[in-house]
Amino acid sequence: MPMIEGTYCTFDTSACEERAKYAKELVAYGDGKIPQLFETLGFDRGDNKVNMFFGGENQHGYLGNWSVQIAKNIPENDWGTVIHEAVHITQEPGVQVLYFAQPKFKLLYEGVADYYRVLLSSDRQGDHHDDSKRSLHACFSLAPEHIYESGPEFVAYLRHCSKDPTFPKALNDNLRTGDPDAIDEFLRDRVGFKYDTLLAGYPNARARDIKRPIRTNRFDFFTAMMPTTLK
Ligand SMILES: [Zn+2]
Repeated sequence: MPMIEGTYCTFDTSACEERAKYAKELVAYGDGKIPQLFETLGFDRGDNKVNMFFGGENQHGYLGNWSVQIAKNIPENDWGTVIHEAVHITQEPGVQVLYFAQPKFKLLYEGVADYYRVLLSSDRQGDHHDDSKRSLHACFSLAPEHIYESGPEFVAYLRHCSKDPTFPKALNDNLRTGDPDAIDEFLRDRVGFKYDTLLAGYPNARARDIKRPIRTNRFDFFTAMMPTTLK
């Protein structure tokens, strides 16, 4: 089995040997970012590594049990995906329970995953596959095609409201429960309102805070919303 062995991640390239160069580069990137991520989230990986392998066209995502499928047609310069997918590991078992049972919570699970993708990326824009991480989007929506832009922005907003720079980590800890009541209780305690209320109120708050959303750099927005330390 053609296996690229890193310290914190591995990549089985057998399903797409022609992308072995990308896989090797992704393992090197992952070895730099995964320990940073787990330290930031206070997550003990034990002896586990993030195990990646090539899937078919557009078959991409975290499958559970430390396995990450990487689409064989992934763009050459998409590195941050390994940060994003490794966040999902830290969200188990809740992510498995709630993600499909109540789709509105996808915004939080994907939001935290892409929040850390942007925050821990070297270019502060998600190290990077297309323009979606470069700027804030005009629309805020839970639709699947918008969730990777709307989610991290919403998490940054909640962090701003909580006045706690460690809020996203605490949210991630809570998402691990997979319990909607526990999530509501957490949000009420930290931000003052339950999830549905926050979600309903956000578009108006967003419209007030952002004058020219398309032209606003995403990382500038994060730091503007959260004028404390980045960690
Ligand atoms: Zn995801």
